[in-house]
Amino acid sequence: MPRSSAIRVRPRLRVLFAIPLVAALALSAPVSGQIAQERVDLDAISRIRQEGLEHSQIPELARHLTDVIGPRLTGSPGMKEANEWTAAMLRSWGLTDVTIEPWGRFGRGWENVAYEGRILTPYSQVMPGQASGWTGSTKGTITAPAFVVEGGVDSIARYGITARGALVLVAPPRATPAEFKEYERRTPLDSLFAPVRQRPGMQIGWDTLLVKIQKQQAHGDSLLRAAGVAGVIAGSGTAYGTIRGGGDWSATNPDAPIPVPTVIIQQEQYNQIYRNVTSGVPVAIQLNVQNKFLTSDLNAYNTLGDIRGTDKADEYVMIGAHLDSWHYANGATDNGAGTIVMMEAMRILKTLDLHPRRTIRIALWSGEEEGIYGSRNWIRKHPEMAPKISAYLNLDNGTGKVRGIWDQSNEKAVPIFEQILWPFRDLGVMTVRRGNTGSTDHVSFDDAGIPGFNFIQDPIEYSLRTHHSSNDVYDHLMLDDLKQAAVVVAATAYELANRDEMFPRK
Ligand SMILES: [Zn+2]
Repeated sequence: MPRSSAIRVRPRLRVLFAIPLVAALALSAPVSGQIAQERVDLDAISRIRQEGLEHSQIPELARHLTDVIGPRLTGSPGMKEANEWTAAMLRSWGLTDVTIEPWGRFGRGWENVAYEGRILTPYSQVMPGQASGWTGSTKGTITAPAFVVEGGVDSIARYGITARGALVLVAPPRATPAEFKEYERRTPLDSLFAPVRQRPGMQIGWDTLLVKIQKQQAHGDSLLRAAGVAGVIAGSGTAYGTIRGGGDWSATNPDAPIPVPTVIIQQEQYNQIYRNVTSGVPVAIQLNVQNKFLTSDLNAYNTLGDIRGTDKADEYVMIGAHLDSWHYANGATDNGAGTIVMMEAMRILKTLDLHPRRTIRIALWSGEEEGIYGSRNWIRKHPEMAPKISAYLNLDNGTGKVRGIWDQSNEKAVPIFEQILWPFRDLGVMTVRRGNTGSTDHVSFDDAGIPGFNFIQDPIEYSLRTHHSSNDVYDHLMLDDLKQAAVVVAATAYELANRDEMFPRK
């Protein structure tokens, strides 16, 4: 709900409504120390809504990115193809300075080329699964016993030669509780407006954290190699056959030894193998997993493009999302959704031939899943840009429609976004929430002192099933929600680009 002072800060309603005289008086003559009034261009907003809601290209963009290009693991051929396709689309809409820009050295690329799994005993059954990222291959098709290592990978040495040649299970089984709990799909209003209990920020920087994770992974890899295991079988950690996983980031380093083959299987089947082995019932597994490490180009790339501004062309409003994904499906909700919303926002602005005062730049990042590399390194590479970027807007919380935006603890952002987003109440955009959200590319901007924001989205079709999983596919995209998001993003970027002042820094 608007705060009590909102009557003073509402946008002029010159197109959609007639303004009562009293309200019009309240809108003029701002008093010093009060919230400044945003000039919200309702003509442009009305056109953006019409183009974005009635002539959307979201479905077609979504279809090509997910069904044709597919998974976009950073450094993989899919990622390269996505960089090229997004650049070609941006060019076709008339954006300028479209580039596929290396952000630096990422390391080895990786892709899975074959997988066949079968449990042979105590009875024959298929073992659907997927290779964990940046792990190795079996020597053709192997047949090996399943072997339970209790106490995790650190205790594997205790088993001596008994684990040699086995497919080891190093994690305990995991319950898959019945789905009686109803999960929120749309965010109820009261929770959109509830005060946020802010989690403390990350105590260590990204680089330190990533080095720590990679060290741990490399240590685990060396223990498994020393034990001479044939491979690792891991459970997906989620129910109903969903395969969800990550990867071994330490093996992106081209000098690192190749980790043992590691496959992620359905949690229920993992639990079954575990129960059988620990009950003395031998389990034999037939496995063929073939992965390719790619070393011809160790760089990774972002796709960028501009709608050139008019009188403030050397200042920027940036919008962005990460284009890379995990390889377990095709990254539809994480983050094909954000990618196509940002692309569509640019298409809408260009199609309507709107001329923003500042340059609006789209950035489609890579390396996000492995540590927000693409955006962080782009900022490092372009220190001259930091003072010129008014604000950065990000979308990376799935496929749900936009319900608001986080102020990222910048109090001055609240009245600006409240006024700009106000015309989208009827589309469900309700709140500018005080608080930080983390874990994606706007953090790179925030950390560099540039106002960086991430939209709040409905949780529909995201974390429960699709996030980083084999279900992250086109069918789970909420296309109408993405149309709404593209309209909101296009309008927000346009309004910010037309402000007299740069976006206030914290
Ligand atoms: Zn993401």
